[in-house]
Amino acid sequence: MAFNVIGKTVMKSLFGKPATAMYPVIKNEFYPNTRGNIEVAIDKCNFCGLCSRRCPAGAIEVSKPDKKWEIDRTRCIVCNFCVQVCARDSLSTQRHYTVPMTDKSKRISTSYGQTVQEDA
Ligand code: SF4
Ligand code: SF4
Repeated sequence: MAFNVIGKTVMKSLFGKPATAMYPVIKNEFYPNTRGNIEVAIDKCNFCGLCSRRCPAGAIEVSKPDKKWEIDRTRCIVCNFCVQVCARDSLSTQRHYTVPMTDKSKRISTSYGQTVQEDA
């Protein structure tokens, strides 16, 4: 009995379709609630820093004097909390694949604003 089960498993492994996807050559379909990357619309950001203070992973750094917003992609757990707290709708979760990271020095994405927009 156990031999039959093992035999079926072995045959399935040998002749079945691979369980893994050939990412990034073949891209899977996205599910409606798939969370990909956090993106910033820097022109809407007023550098209030709320997203940085609320990020549970410490992935975001904001500098108002430098008009700088940056995210460490290796720290981000894509919890979406920053998107929810941003009052200016500057942040969004994009459902797209990213190129696998081979160089850790490229883990930080930095965006600079042109002008600081103050709320009226
Ligand atoms: S992205 Fe939103 S919450 Fe974060 S600093 Fe900019 S305006 Fe503030
Ligand atoms: S999605 Fe979550 S972990 Fe990633 S930057 Fe936003 S708050 Fe931080």
